[in-house]
Formats: sequence, C-alpha cells, structure tokens
Amino acid sequence: MRAPARVHVLSLGGTISMAQDATGLRAAPADAPDAGLVSPVPEDVEVTHVPVANVGSPSVRPAQLAEVLERARDAVAGGAAGVVVTHGTDTLEESAFLLNRYWDLEAPLVLTGAMRPANAPGADGPANLRDAVRTALAPSARGLGVLAVFDSLVHLADRVTKVSSRSVDAFASEPSGPVALVGERDLRLVYRPTDRSALLGGALPDRLPRVPVLALGLGDDAELLDALAPDALEGLVVEGVGMGHVPERAVGRLRALTARGVPVVVATRVPSGGTSLNHYDYPGSEVDLIRAGCVMAGALTPHSARLLLQALVADGADADRISREFEAFGY
Ligand code: ASP
Repeated sequence: MRAPARVHVLSLGGTISMAQDATGLRAAPADAPDAGLVSPVPEDVEVTHVPVANVGSPSVRPAQLAEVLERARDAVAGGAAGVVVTHGTDTLEESAFLLNRYWDLEAPLVLTGAMRPANAPGADGPANLRDAVRTALAPSARGLGVLAVFDSLVHLADRVTKVSSRSVDAFASEPSGPVALVGERDLRLVYRPTDRSALLGGALPDRLPRVPVLALGLGDDAELLDALAPDALEGLVVEGVGMGHVPERAVGRLRALTARGVPVVVATRVPSGGTSLNHYDYPGSEVDLIRAGCVMAGALTPHSARLLLQALVADGADADRISREFEAFGY
C-alpha cells in the first residue's frame, strides 16, 4: 500500500483557534491551541500538527515566523508534500509576504485562517483548513512560493490583501485576482504567475530593522521626523497619496534622510494602481521624490513595502540593490 501523503500544519493562533463566549461575543484564544483544526481530511492524507503560538496576529513575532520557516523546511525535508500555517487574518498577508522572501522550496507553504471563531455558527476555519491542506498537496501549487487560501480561493503571497474586516470573503489580490480556485485533487489555475521577485532565501531574521510607515496626507509636512533622534530610523516607508505623492514641504525632510543614507520608500494609500515613476513632475510628485533619493514601492502596499525594506536592510543591501529589488514590484 502506498504511504499516505503528508501535510504538516503549524499553528500561530488567530480567530481559527479562538472561541467566543456564550453570548457570541468577545472571541479570545481558546484553551486548546488547535481548537479550530478539526476538519475532515481525505483518507489517504496524513496531517501532523505542531502549535507554535496562539496569539492575535498583530502579536506574531518575527522570531516565531523564523521558527515556522525552519520547521516547515524540516517537514519538507522529512517527506511532507507541503506545509500549512494557521494564522490570524489581520496580519496574515504580512507573514505571507515576509515568508515568501525566504521560502525557496518547490513545496507549497500555505497560510490560512478564519473570520469566525471555532465555535461560531458557520465557522469558516474547518473549510479553509481543508482547502489549505488540499492546496499543500496540489501538484499545480508547487513552485508558486507562499500562498494564502481563503474562502475557496488561492492567492499569491505578494498580492494578497485583507479587504474586509468582517466578511468571510476577506481577501483579494491586486491587480490580478486570485491565482487559482481550490479543487479536490489539484488547483484550477486562473493564470501562470511570472517569476518570484526579491527571493532572499536563508534564515528569516529574529529582529526586523526599525522601519516605520509614516502616512502623509493633506497638510502633513512630516514634522514628526524633526523630533526623532538621528539614528532612530533604519529606513522609512512613506504612505503617500495618488501615484506616490506627498505635500511639497515634506520633501526636504525626506531628502535629508536619504542624504544620511537612510533608505526611504514611497508607497500609496490607494488600494489599486500603485505608484508611478514619471507621470508627474511637480513639488511632492514621484519625479521630485525620486530626485530626492526616494524609491517608489510600485504595486506594494505600504505594509508590504515596509517588510521588503526591513528584509533588505537586515540583509545589508545598499541603495542600488534596494531600488533594484523594489523596481521588480513596479508597474
Ligand atoms: N481578527 C483576527 C483573525 O481573523 C484576529 C487575528 O488576526 O489574530 O484571526
């Protein structure tokens, strides 16, 4: 008899491992960390499970993701077809994006979660988990890097974003839509993705460099930067407007940072379309910001741009490499 295919599940917490109270409110991590992990799996599939943490996803630490990465690599080396990570939905896309910088194996690494606690009516965790297990086993998922599976759809880690804080249909992919639908024995691919960008490989750092996101809108000239100690920032992501624009009075402060060797990346708060390189040339526009030494984030959301910049700074990347790696995410 053929040995069953094996999928290894690592859990980090989130709503999939939470229970709500008797009134249907106040969901919190359940006593059993794998409360959300009971799900029908095909007979010829063996699912192993190791809980890594049971926390709300904003509290997931880089060191825990580093542990997940190492455990996932070990599981594949030990014969697992793929690995599933259960995770809170609030930062699921961040962990997926960060892990995708280091996951250099063909086997799928699949993140999933739930919008409804494990004991809520219509809990979506078991179905999402079953779909994530199917995806981890799917031949077509091999080589696609890190994936997020939610509500029967498969998303690429570099595109997926949470678009609803309430609906079970909580994730979308910009600008392409999901890469596949989950099928019983394989995925139904919607398109074939192009090459992976910014694949660093190696170990995920336990500590990420200090790179905050500063949102600049109407009337905000980034004065906060004047109050920071000179070495407070290891990099900065600006969440600008439109195609990556800021108030003109902020530009001098950003130029002062790049002149001191602090990398500055400009993203946009607009959900679709990304930043540009040369649509506009006026004070505070992308052309002006590039002249000031800033790098444009292209299609990356501000929070993905932050993680990419942190990964690159942690890897010792210089200004040229930083702009090259971001260019790969441009439009
Ligand atoms: N609302 C969250 C979730 O869906 C909580 C979290 O992100 O941990 O899991």
